Amino acid sequence: MTVIRPSKIVCVGRNYAAHARELGNELPKWPLLFFKPPSSLIGDGDVIVMPAVSQQVEYEAEVGVVIGKRARKVGRTDAMSHVRGFTCANDVTCRDLQQTDGQWGRAKGFDTFCAVGPVVAKMDDWDNLEVIGRLNGVERQRAPVSDMIFSIPVLVEYISHIMTLEPDDLILTGTPEGVGRMQSGDVVEVEIPGVGILRNPVRGDETR
Ligand code: MG
Repeated sequence: MTVIRPSKIVCVGRNYAAHARELGNELPKWPLLFFKPPSSLIGDGDVIVMPAVSQQVEYEAEVGVVIGKRARKVGRTDAMSHVRGFTCANDVTCRDLQQTDGQWGRAKGFDTFCAVGPVVAKMDDWDNLEVIGRLNGVERQRAPVSDMIFSIPVLVEYISHIMTLEPDDLILTGTPEGVGRMQSGDVVEVEIPGVGILRNPVRGDETR
């Protein structure tokens, strides 16, 4: 069960410098955007299904920003009044397909590849949030939102000058350093202290 029904999921790539470097990428000069389809959404406790076509399915722990009020060409100083709250998100990615395809629609678009939850929390002190990623209980990622190259208000401003953001639309704000591969039987967690813990089991795809 998902806690939101977004018309679109707008994602930001390479928004933490250490993560851009761990994958050998330059730092972006402006936010690098891509989409995940709403059909990829799952909720807390739902199974992440790894497609057989990929040999390298990875977790990406991220801060999810949920829009509360329609945003069209808003400035950064007004941006947070359009945000309903924050949620834990996992931007599941087939790293091998991301590299071979160039475009990321397939690598990041499979069913179950956008885990979100367990709640949408309103936070007034959002600038103190941090995101933590764990695989089988072992911490792999941790970073404060202050490490983002482009801050949350700047992202809302930038995106809203391209497309109108509707209530329930979701922005995935990028992942910090420490991404890694998942295997069938793993349990992956994304925690944002003060918001909650998103926990999902991982399985290989047994359907044909
Ligand atoms: Mg990501």
